Amino acid sequence: MPIKNRLAEMHDEITGWRRDIHQHPEILYDTHRTSALVAEKLNEFGCDEVVTGIGRTGVVGVIRGKSDTRGRVIGLRADMDALPMQEQTGLDYASEIPNAMHACGHDGHTAMVLGAAKYLAETRNFDGTAIVIFQPAEEGGNGAEAMCKDGLMDRFGIQEVYAMHNVPGVPTGQFAIRSGSLLAAADEFDIHLEGRGGHAAKPHQTIDTTVMLSQLIVALQTIVSRNADPILQAVLSVTSVETSSKAFNVIPQSARIRGTVRTHSNELRDLIEQRLKEVSEGTAATLGGSVNVTYSRGVPVTINAEAQTGYAAEAAVSVGGSCIEAPMVMGGEDFSFMLEERPGAFIVLGNGDSAGLHHPEYNFNDEIIPIGCSWFAEMVERRMPAA
Ligand SMILES: [Zn+2]
Ligand SMILES: [Zn+2]
Repeated sequence: MPIKNRLAEMHDEITGWRRDIHQHPEILYDTHRTSALVAEKLNEFGCDEVVTGIGRTGVVGVIRGKSDTRGRVIGLRADMDALPMQEQTGLDYASEIPNAMHACGHDGHTAMVLGAAKYLAETRNFDGTAIVIFQPAEEGGNGAEAMCKDGLMDRFGIQEVYAMHNVPGVPTGQFAIRSGSLLAAADEFDIHLEGRGGHAAKPHQTIDTTVMLSQLIVALQTIVSRNADPILQAVLSVTSVETSSKAFNVIPQSARIRGTVRTHSNELRDLIEQRLKEVSEGTAATLGGSVNVTYSRGVPVTINAEAQTGYAAEAAVSVGGSCIEAPMVMGGEDFSFMLEERPGAFIVLGNGDSAGLHHPEYNFNDEIIPIGCSWFAEMVERRMPAA
């Protein structure tokens, strides 16, 4: 079955929702307008239940099929939040909010799951229950985790969960997926070095944190190059360096190094966290200083379950004609929290030749709306075929 006719008919209407959301972007958990709009639409479509306030501003809609003989429940997830950046698209529906922009296409994801919800509520051509999930704070706020902690999976009895992200640079409407690790775990580190400050002309009376931080930055490079199995993918980037001195003639008392670690396996994630602490402590001790390392775990590795990846790819082929193998990416995605709780899959859909994600000129491609909506609807109809 290609694109569903009813969804093709709804293309203009769904595009209207998408542009409305685009014009009113909201950051992290402050998706009040968007959440209200989503809840209003879901009620209007005749969803059997609409629940707000899950994971603070998350919204859930329940759509029961014509029958429910096997107790099957499938979740479809969209993200609603925008990014704190200034839009430079010049579109007539560009962001009205300074320093807020839908630069990751979550406006499109929300509109597509809404479109699928409208179709599913109208047709109900499945045996079981579809749960549409709209989460806040995907961009660095772990909104998916907040919804899971609020009992999302158990409360609605979700058995499998699916999500989609658009990808610029991949041909318009081309699906891609891979089984296993697709996106990386994204962690943060913050290292505080402490020495003894003093006069720059009397280094022998100080413990110089600038020498400590220089050696540490180089030593940290050996974790990925010398400790990590070269077959496994990992990145460790130092991104911010500062010292407590702003003067040219003062040796600083303290220094701070921050950065990020990206990994595609939990074993490697544990190893890098451990080595980061050991290398920092060893380097500081060698030079007579002390160190305090904070390692903050962000989103986990996005791991697509094998069977569900197969179902997602079959639905993609049926809707779009083909589904190619996606490469592993070092970016992170907080849908991974949902995939830690239930088997499921994250698929990507080509946004065509647009500016990249998180770029001030990026825009979601409205042409892919019917195909994305059809895939979500198809997942429900295929995994829970009508009795
Ligand atoms: Zn993003
Ligand atoms: Zn995104």
